[in-house]
Amino acid sequence: MSSIFSKIIKGEIPSYKIVEDDNYFAFLDINPNAKGHTLCIPKVEVDRIFDLDEEVYMGLMQFSRKVAVAIEKTIPCNRVGLSVIGLEVPHAHVHLIPIESMDDMRFISKVKMTKEEFEDLAEAIRSNL
Ligand code: 5GP
Repeated sequence: MSSIFSKIIKGEIPSYKIVEDDNYFAFLDINPNAKGHTLCIPKVEVDRIFDLDEEVYMGLMQFSRKVAVAIEKTIPCNRVGLSVIGLEVPHAHVHLIPIESMDDMRFISKVKMTKEEFEDLAEAIRSNL
């Protein structure tokens, strides 16, 4: 069975997409720690990030870096934090989170955003790529 993220890649489940290329896809996390919290995923469906082929893994990091730079240009923040967890969705993904303090990386306080805010933010980050 396809992971929820594979369904997002195929467009079977909607997402606030930022960018995709042949191998990777970036979209806003639906339950963000902070505005701009983004997930970068490989199109190949592999659960654990360190099980990815080295080339795919390195490509994911390169792709994530480009997206992180665009997030930093878009959202006032101390910096963009990067985290890999993967306990909820078994499809490797990189969390990019604009942070002010360590608390923003702790996945305990969440921000609510409207559909329009998600759409506008995805578009703003895209325009800074
Ligand atoms: P993890 O697997 O790293 O523990 O967490 C999975 C992340 O994916 C969570 O931050 C969660 O909010 C996000 N997530 C889960 N389902 C969806 C979804 O359907 N759409 C989006 N955009 N994010 C999701």
